[in-house]
Amino acid sequence: MEMTTQAKPAYKAYALNTFRNIPQMERLTETERFDIEVVGNVLPFKVNNYVIDELIDWDHYQGDPLFNLVFPNRHMLRPEHFAEMERTLKETGDRNVIREVAHKIRLQLNPHPAGQVELNVPEIEGVKLTGIQHKYRETLLFFPSSGQTCHSYCTFCFRWPQFVGMNEIKFAMRETELLVKYLQEHQEVTDILFTGGDPMIMKYEVFRQYIEPFLDKDNGTNIQSIRIGTKSLAFWPYKFIDDEEADKFLALFERVTKSGINLAFMSHFNHPNEMKTAAVQKAIRRLRNTGLQIRTQSPLLHNINDDANAWAEMWREQVNQNCIPYYMFVARDTGARHYFEVPLVRAWEIFREAYQQVSGLCRTVRGPSMSATPGKVQVLGVSEVAGKKVLALRFLQGRNPDWVGRPFFAEYDEKATWLDELKPAFEDKFFYEEELEQMYQEKVSSVLSDN
Ligand SMILES: *Cc1c(COP(=O)(O)O)cnc(C)c1O
Ligand code: SF4
Repeated sequence: MEMTTQAKPAYKAYALNTFRNIPQMERLTETERFDIEVVGNVLPFKVNNYVIDELIDWDHYQGDPLFNLVFPNRHMLRPEHFAEMERTLKETGDRNVIREVAHKIRLQLNPHPAGQVELNVPEIEGVKLTGIQHKYRETLLFFPSSGQTCHSYCTFCFRWPQFVGMNEIKFAMRETELLVKYLQEHQEVTDILFTGGDPMIMKYEVFRQYIEPFLDKDNGTNIQSIRIGTKSLAFWPYKFIDDEEADKFLALFERVTKSGINLAFMSHFNHPNEMKTAAVQKAIRRLRNTGLQIRTQSPLLHNINDDANAWAEMWREQVNQNCIPYYMFVARDTGARHYFEVPLVRAWEIFREAYQQVSGLCRTVRGPSMSATPGKVQVLGVSEVAGKKVLALRFLQGRNPDWVGRPFFAEYDEKATWLDELKPAFEDKFFYEEELEQMYQEKVSSVLSDN
């Protein structure tokens, strides 16, 4: 891993139509390159020069976690889906036909997990606010339309990048207006979480439109904390180093923290190798100097980080660099999940084995946690209750705040990888299920009565 400080490179990204120009592609077999093309037509694919030149160990690319994180391989699609796209590419060069086949396959990969569309999107005066998800009472998730792409794409992700119109600044202002209006009517919301894609893909002039309204003490909202969910530190740390835009972003962050609002980067790091370059370390130092906090999170991913030592090393490295470990997630039930998924019992073992190795300062991390339809459910572990082997669980967040923090039990199941595969250990239904069902019914009837 290169540790010397080097001049800031210009950002250069490659996608499906250009990736063969990446010099390191010569190391791959033609079959591997073609496989990238087949899978890359279905799953997100884009990689930049920082990831290529500073994160991937090309001498061992086949087992390299960062290679697997950004380069698709044939096993990421189910054999029948792979065969279908392979056949299509061999038969035609027609982009429309290829897109149609890709779309059809994607629909079978559960593109909107956890009730995101049905349950989370709020309304103002009958207008659906599609950029907002309000699932947990205190925290609003906001997807700025200009932040829907990323500096590189993760193969495990299923947030399809969308193009937005030309007048991004105007759009950002309009969006922010609606957002502030919603927050004025919802004083229970103290936290806003900007997410995407990656909000840190935005140019400064666009980004500041979203943030500046919250600097006004008299804006009528109850926002006390702003979080920015971002992979930029791992995929393009140069965003915060040595140029005019970088300095403007840092100055804005400093204005936020000085205004008394808590500002946190929810920084996605999937592997300790992402913490080791001179660039990321410098970016972290500069960001921390603005007074913002950096909290870290990642899903547990087979073939990338399903290894307790990697997690322990990552958490230690984060704490050493002044970042706060926050979440270990279970890989979502979407996209290439069959490739990345780790059974819940195994996930808990990895968590525990890593947690045992580190000091209390790293144990701010919570997990393994599933962002499921009813809420964030943590696997507490395997136990025995009344002579029965069970999995103990609890809500870290719930659609109903009253669900949070009560231990509940599922039948022990070594293979289950998600909440919906678990069975209650002692009852017919988990304690929250009836209420969740009711929430669905209410949504459906309110939609029907609107028509
Ligand atoms: C994780 C998450 C949040 C934030 O939850 P915290 O426990 O406050 O970190 C908010 N909304 C949604 C939909 C989430 O998945
Ligand atoms: S950085 Fe996040 S949103 Fe972007 S591709 Fe990766 S997982 Fe998806």
